[in-house]
Amino acid sequence: MAIRSVNPATGAVVAAFDALGDTEIEERLARASATFATYRRTTFAERAGWLRRAADLLDAERHEIAVIMTTEMGKTLRSAEAEAAKCAKGMRFYAEHAPAFLADEPLADPGTVGASRAFGRYLPLGVVLAVMPWNFPLWQVVRFAAPALMAGNVGLLKHASNVPQCALYLEDLFLRAGFPAGCFQTLLIGAGQVEGVLRDPRVAAATVTGSEPAGQAVASVCGQEIKKTVLELGGSDAYVVMPSADVERAAEVAVTARCQNNGQSCIAAKRFIVHDAVYDRFAELFVAGMAALRVGDPLDSGTDVGPLATEGGRQDIEELLADAVKQGASVLCGGATPDGPGWFFPPTVVGDITTQMRLHTEEAFGPLATLYRVPDIDAAISLANVTSFGLGSNAWTADPAEQEQFINELEAGAVFLNGMVTSHPELPFGGIRRSGYGRELSAVGIREFCNLKTVWAG
Ligand code: NDP
Repeated sequence: MAIRSVNPATGAVVAAFDALGDTEIEERLARASATFATYRRTTFAERAGWLRRAADLLDAERHEIAVIMTTEMGKTLRSAEAEAAKCAKGMRFYAEHAPAFLADEPLADPGTVGASRAFGRYLPLGVVLAVMPWNFPLWQVVRFAAPALMAGNVGLLKHASNVPQCALYLEDLFLRAGFPAGCFQTLLIGAGQVEGVLRDPRVAAATVTGSEPAGQAVASVCGQEIKKTVLELGGSDAYVVMPSADVERAAEVAVTARCQNNGQSCIAAKRFIVHDAVYDRFAELFVAGMAALRVGDPLDSGTDVGPLATEGGRQDIEELLADAVKQGASVLCGGATPDGPGWFFPPTVVGDITTQMRLHTEEAFGPLATLYRVPDIDAAISLANVTSFGLGSNAWTADPAEQEQFINELEAGAVFLNGMVTSHPELPFGGIRRSGYGRELSAVGIREFCNLKTVWAG
């Protein structure tokens, strides 16, 4: 199937590409493998120089690439520019810190293991395949690529089939920045061609950001091939508000937490769980905030929420909502798909959720929020933990004992107190349960695709 860039605001095809054939894939695999043999010998200083140059180029080209992102997947131009800036920051972060993150580690007092020296050294694994989604078409890739390249790995990118221009831009960016050809290559291939690449002995490991089925497919093959994987999958994170919280601030941030990236973020807050004592006030402010967002052309600077990235994505949201409404949920704002071109869907809040509704446990990948009323913290935590996901939860409370309970008992890879979950290069990022495993970013992230080699010297 052709790999196509379709403008979600209009439905118009912007660009189309043929998927690579077997010979072209083989050429790229051979180039990646050959490049690794020499690239692994480059110094941190050389890699950091290229990565800083990539950051500088990205800063200079921020507007141009943001327009491509917006017309490929519908995020607002403002957020596309912010994403490009964040990528440059992430590159500089790893350029600066990778040497310390990967410095030799003393493992034991050498005498206790009969050695004169005993330490661990972080060495690259080789060619790593990144299977990436369209929702943050630059950042998802850069948060893999920047640490992987600094560690001495080489990358192959299988990007989502609806963002080929972003994928090609990234390959070109790293090349222009000075990385040797073959360090970072885009494979324009469909999902069905991933297995063959994963089974190739020259590919050492894989990382996936995307849906559960994509994660399962890649991890199954890698399981058979005994290859390391990191999975960043979906989430249906809770946003809990307790009576001691700053309710006004919590409601304001809740709107952003739900509707960032047109509601299509794995770490977006999706289920809003509010203590009875502050429920009415929070609901009033939150619903008003959601209803006030301006939906429209993502290139327009006044737009808060653009279209969903794909027609199928909008259908999924419509179906989740219809299922809930049929079973008695109340729509507090939004809910009606607008007429006209583009895959727009209004910010929507739904109350009176019951356990039979799909929305109760499934991820809503669009600007659709569920609102729950709970009597106490135990009920809040058990509701927060009801889904099979566990990515990044939010809890609003000024009470130190409640904060401790949230930290200890929310089943998630992260908990953000009195703020919304965001990824930072400095902090580990990842999930548990069906949200995946492994961590990206920080020192932990760069070590995922390293061999911690134990060195013993007599
Ligand atoms: P997918 O998981 O289908 O796509 C993500 C990437 O995985 C794409 O590159 C895709 O390729 C690839 N892929 C899909 N299936 C396979 C497979 N069987 N083997 C190998 N690679 C595969 O995401 P969607 O775009 O379909 O979004 C659907 C859902 O995914 C969302 O509702 C959300 O739950 C989740 N999602 C989570 C994201 C996150 O940030 N964690 C980001 C995006 C989606 P191709 O495009 O060619 O199909």
